[in-house]
Amino acid sequence: MSEHKDFLRVKVEEDLKSGKYEKVVTRFPPEPNGFPHIGHAKSICINFGIARDFDGHCNLRMDDTDPTKEDTKYVDALKDAVKWLGFEWGETEYYTSDYFPRIYDYAIELIKMGKAYVDSLNEEEIREYRGTVTQAGKRSKYAERSIEENLDLFERMKKGEFKDGEHILRAKIDMSAANMKMRDPLLYRIRHAHHYRAGDEWYVYPMYDFAHCLSDYIEGVTHSICTLEFENNREIYDWVLDNLNLKPPRPYQHEFARLGINYTVMSKRKLLELVEGKYVSGWDDPRMPTIAGYKRRGYTPESILNFCDQIGIAKANSMVDVSQLEFCIRDDLNQKVPRVMCVLDPIKVTIENYEGSESIEASYYPHDVPKEGSRKIPFSNEVYIEREDFSENPVKGYNRLTPNQAVRLRHAYIITCKEIIKDANGNIIEIKAQYNPNSKSGQDTSGIKVKSAIQWVDAKEAKQIEVRLYDRLYKDEAPEGLEDLNPDSLQIIKNALIEPAVITEKADERFQFERQGYFYADPIDYSNEKPVFNKIVGLKDSWTK
Ligand code: ATP
Ligand code: MG
Ligand code: MG
Repeated sequence: MSEHKDFLRVKVEEDLKSGKYEKVVTRFPPEPNGFPHIGHAKSICINFGIARDFDGHCNLRMDDTDPTKEDTKYVDALKDAVKWLGFEWGETEYYTSDYFPRIYDYAIELIKMGKAYVDSLNEEEIREYRGTVTQAGKRSKYAERSIEENLDLFERMKKGEFKDGEHILRAKIDMSAANMKMRDPLLYRIRHAHHYRAGDEWYVYPMYDFAHCLSDYIEGVTHSICTLEFENNREIYDWVLDNLNLKPPRPYQHEFARLGINYTVMSKRKLLELVEGKYVSGWDDPRMPTIAGYKRRGYTPESILNFCDQIGIAKANSMVDVSQLEFCIRDDLNQKVPRVMCVLDPIKVTIENYEGSESIEASYYPHDVPKEGSRKIPFSNEVYIEREDFSENPVKGYNRLTPNQAVRLRHAYIITCKEIIKDANGNIIEIKAQYNPNSKSGQDTSGIKVKSAIQWVDAKEAKQIEVRLYDRLYKDEAPEGLEDLNPDSLQIIKNALIEPAVITEKADERFQFERQGYFYADPIDYSNEKPVFNKIVGLKDSWTK
């Protein structure tokens, strides 16, 4: 735990010190209606992090009260995400649907106390009767029903005697409350739908405001941490728990600011739209802000945890720059991964004065990375360099190969351009060059000064790979919808060339392709016969050296 405690940890510490609770219990309560995104990662870090820091426990609870949207595949994705981030929820998985019988009984209790009633207004009337911020609402005439009638109707709702929307169970609170949420909130609605877990047993399903506080209570949660949009729901949370005369201790709700990142969307509904409309290859498309997407792209759990730590926990919503996340992954990989050479857009260089071949021993890591390991790089008179690293008519400041400027082939020799070969259309297809035998990297006595070293691969030994370059999913900083998608967010390069050790030695799954960025062997499509690499993130400075 860092020196500076956020307001949630301050509160937890206070509640433990005062003896309000003996042990802190938090929960991460997603609805299994989509894959978790990086906003959920923040919530996971907060809830599991607090439990860990204070020797408590964090429950993993599926908040599964809407049968129309939920599915087991989302439950699995949620569990994968929590595990991948390095947290454990223990022996038991919790499901709100397991509490349906108990929550139903609590509803009956409220009815018996005269604190809940069956309303038969339609949706539109309910909205109209609620009033506005400046105008008090009015109560439905059905609020006058007797306790017996309410009990009878509610039971028949449960048995499936009525259609969806025909009746609804409401708390009887205050139709003129300043907090609109307190104007007789809805507790139970009718849904004739199959529940992925509870099956076909239920025709009534509890609303969030009723189910959440009770689930927290049933599980012995102490601190129920949620995002700011639920601030006004806190009063209902308290009302339900206080009115049911529950045995203490009871949980309390605390809110924090939800995470927003620019150039992406962070709502499962919008992400689902991308998946269903096939705008992406799936929930784990490497452009998606889902945990599965980051994982497939090559992000490490550590980088996400660091990011969540850096952005901190605040009480006011704000937008985080995506470059902050990119910084975290770059920072993590910089200390970990081997450096290798890959050429994305090859142009052939024939070194006329070189004969035979050799194998150059080169370290996988630069001096400032405390890791050991090296590989052999084959070298001969035919190599490929990046098309961009040669310019026939260089602009000022261009410091790579030109007809008049030598360059170093990284780990190897200095070469000079002697001749440019073009096809009938004037495209350069080959460069004839000469090397200086005294310029070998590490034992250079040539005295030649060059401005840069470029990546290359041996023409005969290089392996062909597919490289998937990803850019931001949206072109707009604050995207609203599909019209803001970036049409160039994926570029596939089928014939990039890579030094053979990357495929045969597989020193790691993540690599820095020197001067190109960090790349990850795609966990699904990669094979040694058809290697596929995802670009994780670019280098900060891709132009010099
Ligand atoms: P979405 O609108 O994306 O569907 P949600 O809040 O409905 O999000 P849930 O599955 O209900 O998603 O959320 C599970 C937990 O994760 C909740 O406690 C919620 O507050 C938290 N959470 C969801 N989105 C974010 C976010 N962007 N930042 C921080 N926490 C989030
Ligand atoms: Mg929710
Ligand atoms: Mg939602």
